[in-house]
Amino acid sequence: MQRLATPTELRDWCEARRREGRRIGFVPTMGYLHRGHMSLVELVGRHADEVVVSIFVNPRQFGDGEDLARYPRDLEGDEVKCRQAGVGALFVPPVQQMYPKGFQTRVKVSDLTQGLCGARRPGHFEGVCTVVAKLLNIVGPCVAVFGQKDYQQLLAIRRMTVDLNLPVEVLGAPTVRDPDGLAVSSRNVHLSADQRGSAKCLSGALRQVQEQVREGELSVRVARETASSVIAQQAGTRIDYLEIRDAETLVQLDQIRPGGTLVALAVFVGGTRLIDNILI
Ligand code: AMP
Repeated sequence: MQRLATPTELRDWCEARRREGRRIGFVPTMGYLHRGHMSLVELVGRHADEVVVSIFVNPRQFGDGEDLARYPRDLEGDEVKCRQAGVGALFVPPVQQMYPKGFQTRVKVSDLTQGLCGARRPGHFEGVCTVVAKLLNIVGPCVAVFGQKDYQQLLAIRRMTVDLNLPVEVLGAPTVRDPDGLAVSSRNVHLSADQRGSAKCLSGALRQVQEQVREGELSVRVARETASSVIAQQAGTRIDYLEIRDAETLVQLDQIRPGGTLVALAVFVGGTRLIDNILI
């Protein structure tokens, strides 16, 4: 496995592989790799001949007062995991390589990023789309995979690749969960044992809504009440948002439409903000 630090090194590496007729699979991450990330590596490996993973904690997608400074890092551990998974190149650029002096370009996907996390984290998706556009541009033609856990991000990136004619096939990967339902996340490391117990209320609330829909209850109001009460039962939790939206356009719905509805939530468990969602 090659460890690369500059955009030029990564571009050259990818171009050399493509000249050999090999297809590149790409997994962008912020590191502190867990089973969720590794499932993306595994998935993209089935669609490509060479896998590239990037690790970049992108300062531009964190707002003031967010957790950039305490975002967990373990580059050595990440490197071992990538090597074991057969990754061909690990791209770990310093911040100055991605944002050299004078940098002033932004990529903004408009409608899809307005609600949900976009409303709660101003500038977040501009930061995400800008860095992902740069990374995809450096890697070049490839298949890239993003997790459905960050569903709004997946939709925004899909839209961006179409709108900007990027030569990239975007795949979505299912959310990997712990046995009790909690979506695996780098941020779970911040949870105390008690908070870890409370955190399963996110997936619990989503499952309960899914169950109600199975029984024929399609009211968005009822679904919101159900999910809120499941979360309220856990000490130390605070709902940041709880939304039920069209799974393609993300417009708000009054009635759940089975087959095309996203239920998404963000919840603070102590000081840690966790997100989860389910497609119904
Ligand atoms: P991050 O390092 O949090 O920026 O995540 C990098 C990629 O991994 C994104 O595409 C995420 O959606 C994806 N991801 C994070 N957690 C999970 C999970 N539990 N299951 C599947 N994919 C995930």
